Amino acid sequence: MLKLSKYIIVLGVVVSIISCKSSQGISSDKNKNTAVNLREYLNTITATELKEHLTIIASDDMQGRETGSQGQKKAGNYLVEQYKKFGIPAPTKLGSYYQTVPAAFLNAKKNEGLPDSENIMAFIEGTEKPNEIVVLSAHYDHVGVKNGEVYNGADDDGSGTVALIEIAQALQKAKKEGRGPKRSVLILHVTGEEHGLHGSRYYSENPVYELSNTVADVNIDMIGRRDNFHQNSNNYIYLIGSDYLSSELYQVCEDMNKKYINTTIDYKYNDKKDPNKFYYRSDHYNFAKHNIPSVFLFNGTHEDYHKPTDDVDKIEFDALEKRTKFALAIVWEIANRPEKLKVDKLTTDKN
Ligand SMILES: [Zn+2]
Repeated sequence: MLKLSKYIIVLGVVVSIISCKSSQGISSDKNKNTAVNLREYLNTITATELKEHLTIIASDDMQGRETGSQGQKKAGNYLVEQYKKFGIPAPTKLGSYYQTVPAAFLNAKKNEGLPDSENIMAFIEGTEKPNEIVVLSAHYDHVGVKNGEVYNGADDDGSGTVALIEIAQALQKAKKEGRGPKRSVLILHVTGEEHGLHGSRYYSENPVYELSNTVADVNIDMIGRRDNFHQNSNNYIYLIGSDYLSSELYQVCEDMNKKYINTTIDYKYNDKKDPNKFYYRSDHYNFAKHNIPSVFLFNGTHEDYHKPTDDVDKIEFDALEKRTKFALAIVWEIANRPEKLKVDKLTTDKN
């Protein structure tokens, strides 16, 4: 999650024209990918595995994953190793798990002396509509080391990073068992988020798969903790942006939650007038500004946000598991429903 002081750089002008609301239920169980099947794959996502991955991704060894640093590259290697282990290929059109984001791009808006860095991608090709792409994104960079202290970023955004690993593994298992998603799913670990959403902006300007065929972005940034508004329970998630472009995306999130997850969806930060402006402060924004329906899953901020104390031992893995399952359920439905999500609300963004 980008600090509020930095989001100004990425903020554009947004005009939303709200049109009529329509909704379409979740895809029929007559389809090959039935509810029973999804439950089976949701169950492969476990707190134990999330913890194993996060203990590595948010270890001191990764040196706070500053954009372009050796520590970040080490974290990136770990991600690629996982995809190779699961048998999930790089995007065929890219021919590599890595998309270089050049230093010149990273420093163009504000010269912070950042070296080249990489977005990392894995690709699960759709079985019926492979050219329609569902993006699942999370940033794997964080803010590095300051005054000798490692900022491990376990929640920001180690939590989203490991969620992507687990969701990819579940989708690949489904695919191996003949129940793979109908549309393709692009697993996208972006870099440079903390410096101004650079990696996702680079992807949106240099997309591996055309944006016109990109049907949605499901973005995860900080889902392993609770905030002060939810001191009595971690069974909640903030959803932001789900209804900004597509009434159907809003309905998919609502329906999948009711059917499979049963968490409390909190729309407090979905208000564009909220002074925190979270909608503009994570990577989905670089898809949403191109009118791609996008939803951002977020647990809110806490006392360790952007502090060296954002550590693995503070993560609530039961909450991380549940929210990761929710993200899988949303991706599953978007990738498998008969028609792609309709954009029925127009937004004009200038950035
Ligand atoms: Zn952050």
